[in-house]
Amino acid sequence: MLLPDAPWLHDAALDHVVQALKCDGQPPRIVGGAVRDALLGIAVADVDLATPLVPDEVTRRLLAAGIKAIPTGIDHGTVTAVADGRTFEITTLRRDVSTDGRRATVEFATDWKDDAARRDFTINALYADPESREIFDYFDGLADLEARHVRFIGDAGQRIAEDHLRILRLFRFHARFGQGAIDGDALTAASAHAEKLMALSRERIADELRKLLSVPNPAPAVQSMLDAGIFATFLPEIVADAGQRLAMLVQRETLSATAPSVGRRLSAILPADAASVEKIAARLKLSNRLRTDLVQLANHRQSPQSARQLAYAIGIDNARDALLLGDLNNDWLDEIGSISGWEVPELPVKGGDLIAKGLHAGPVVARTLQAIERQWVDEAFPPEPRVTQIVDQSVAEALRDERKL
Ligand code: ATP
Ligand code: MG
Repeated sequence: MLLPDAPWLHDAALDHVVQALKCDGQPPRIVGGAVRDALLGIAVADVDLATPLVPDEVTRRLLAAGIKAIPTGIDHGTVTAVADGRTFEITTLRRDVSTDGRRATVEFATDWKDDAARRDFTINALYADPESREIFDYFDGLADLEARHVRFIGDAGQRIAEDHLRILRLFRFHARFGQGAIDGDALTAASAHAEKLMALSRERIADELRKLLSVPNPAPAVQSMLDAGIFATFLPEIVADAGQRLAMLVQRETLSATAPSVGRRLSAILPADAASVEKIAARLKLSNRLRTDLVQLANHRQSPQSARQLAYAIGIDNARDALLLGDLNNDWLDEIGSISGWEVPELPVKGGDLIAKGLHAGPVVARTLQAIERQWVDEAFPPEPRVTQIVDQSVAEALRDERKL
């Protein structure tokens, strides 16, 4: 079996690195995601290479060939090569010596099958010769890829016990590449070890969650995770109908041709409650940007305002997300249409205008400005002469109130 030919295989930068690392006529091999994705006919994003050469030797040879070498994970045996502005991760063959569920101690190896055996899934343990395109498959990854079966190499329980992050990787890779039910042994093992996820760093969990929510349709996998108790330790707040809510969101994203977004999808599976969202964001150490978006969506996705009123309050992107999340009215597609390309108007009145009309500088100005803004938004941003009418009315009321005091 040969890797299907594709332009990226003829990339000069890749060839430069491959030639530099040839040893006894044997090139390094492409491994993991690039082989898998190329076989599936999916665009190949990053190319990872594996080699029996030790990291020092990899570095020496790259530098000798005029290629920049960055030791990214030297203790794990990874060197990043930067050739013609492109990067390649080059990892020395290795074998796991001991693992504790969080971190593996590895030693370098010379046998390709040893290196394959420490990888997680059979479909992620395929290698290809970059020149001949010959594929090396030590654990029936090709058959599993054909069957769309995401299967651990070896015993699922043991592989998860070695590294608990593999629980989340199981659902992510199944969501992306699997067909039908999740592998039974893997699901049982994942459920049995779910509690141990707590011991992983929150950044790693959040990162996996982000990747899971970025796959084209994460809904069935998320529902399976919920049913298997996977969220219990790190996201107990997840809503009971998370799978259904996500499925609806994915459908709306497709219908409206909106690119998926992690924040929007995360919001779909969280309660519409800002306090819970704040707590979750702190626990998972989410970025400030993501936290703010989630809070705004929690606060507004059940608001009865029109799309334009929402957009005025929280910006066009968040308003569109609130509509896609579907807690609002049924005309969501038309409503989204009404804000795409719309320029959010600015309140056409300033405090100075009110003082010019007779208000005294002070808190009354801000208060009146707010009343004007509320009215103007309620009336869907009318132009002149209505603006002046609203202003004159509000100023008159404020002056009347002042006189009463
Ligand atoms: P993606 O397109 O998501 O990057 P990928 O297959 O390249 O997919 P990575 O997470 O980048 O996935 O990992 C690269 C390879 O390293 C995997 O294909 C797999 O062989 C191996 N690998 C990564 N993480 C683990 C892990 N936790 N346990 C075992 N093997 C792993
Ligand atoms: Mg990768």
